[in-house]
Amino acid sequence: MNTMINFDSAMIKKYDCHGPRYTSYPTAVEFNAEVSNDVYIDELDTSRQSSKPLSLYFHIPFCQSLCFYCACAKIITKKHERSIPYLERVYKEIQHQGALVGSRRVVEQLHFGGGTPTFLSDEQFKVLFDNIRENFTLAPVEQREFSIEIDPRAVRASTIPLLRELGFNRISLGVQDFDAKVQKAVNRIQSVEQTFDVLDAARAAGYKSVSVDLIYGLPCQTVASFKKTLDIVLQKMPDRMSIYSYAHMPDKVRSQRTLNADDLPDPATKLAIFEMTVNYLQKAGYVYIGMDHFALPTDELALAKQNGTLQRNFQGYSTHADTDLIGIGMTSIGKVNDCFIQNQHTEEAYFDAIEDTGLAVRRGYKLSKDDCMRRDIIQALMCQNKVIIADVSSKYQINFFDYFEKEMTNLLSMVEDKLVTFNDKEIKVTNAGQLLLRNVAMIFDAYIKPKNDKVIFSSTI
Ligand code: SF4
Repeated sequence: MNTMINFDSAMIKKYDCHGPRYTSYPTAVEFNAEVSNDVYIDELDTSRQSSKPLSLYFHIPFCQSLCFYCACAKIITKKHERSIPYLERVYKEIQHQGALVGSRRVVEQLHFGGGTPTFLSDEQFKVLFDNIRENFTLAPVEQREFSIEIDPRAVRASTIPLLRELGFNRISLGVQDFDAKVQKAVNRIQSVEQTFDVLDAARAAGYKSVSVDLIYGLPCQTVASFKKTLDIVLQKMPDRMSIYSYAHMPDKVRSQRTLNADDLPDPATKLAIFEMTVNYLQKAGYVYIGMDHFALPTDELALAKQNGTLQRNFQGYSTHADTDLIGIGMTSIGKVNDCFIQNQHTEEAYFDAIEDTGLAVRRGYKLSKDDCMRRDIIQALMCQNKVIIADVSSKYQINFFDYFEKEMTNLLSMVEDKLVTFNDKEIKVTNAGQLLLRNVAMIFDAYIKPKNDKVIFSSTI
């Protein structure tokens, strides 16, 4: 895909608004307290006989130091013993959720995120995995996609091979940027050497896929400085790269107030950085998967993009078709049937809830038929960059153009701007439109409230 297009200042102004990243639809902003432990238990009850595979997500919230840009749910501490009472509750939750799910359903996907999962000791990883194995049925090794986020600044040499032994086959390394000025501005000092050491160790241990995460839009970044970071990463040609757009929301994320807003690249520079990245990585041999993801042509994500089986979920893009997702740990999000569930937000509330009932549901969302339709359309735009009209019409028994009359009228302006095309068979996102995928998806989002979204969602550019 060549995205060489001249986004003039009027166009940047027009599309530089605030909107979701659509790792779910509706987004977590719509979650409400009507979804409780009882609703979740009912959903698990009805899904128990399903043969749909499962995904498990574990949230390990601890980090040794604060990166100023970070909006994740985390607890900053150097005291490793804080993980002990947390894991005790996690083991209880595993036991409880495992019993509710039953042994019939098979776990194909598993992800450890945070925070910093490698805050845990090797011994803690072993015990945690014993608990998972005892309470869930894991898929045969060749069907598994087990992944973990690694902070190269906070991992022991012994941990990489141990995680491989435990069954992890994908690893993603947090980098963000190698430029010294940027690292200082965001309070994340990380050398190329320590990053490459972990990456080499992951390859030596036989991980199927090694991924590197970067962020564009951070303070002091320029097109030239970010290109240098890409050049460094390209020396190792990781299987996947995630290039996330920095979400500056200081009203919502306190630590971002520490950043000097004057140092942030303006929307035109930010878009130029991303456009350079898309073209540069494609020239280097990567396939642009969509939004913020790139993969080598031999990687499963690239193959899934090619054969139309790509999925979008809370971890970004995935190759696994519609699984139910069980979230474990504070703030974790799950999805069973057409219902989202999210755990308690604070450590204290999570501990109390687990002690009381073994579950910690704080809120969630049950999708209506209209939600499901819009979710499918947004998923198709995000993953295949096109919507087949007949697929939606026949699945939901609607006349697409009647049902989405307002949306299709709103899309006309994007057609004029050469971001999308449509006819009676399909809606298609152009190469230029792929840089503004969120804006295209927002047309079909029934919950966008222009006046309020500035404090809720990040900028789409
Ligand atoms: S970016 Fe990662 S390591 Fe830094 S504070 Fe956030 S979760 Fe912790």
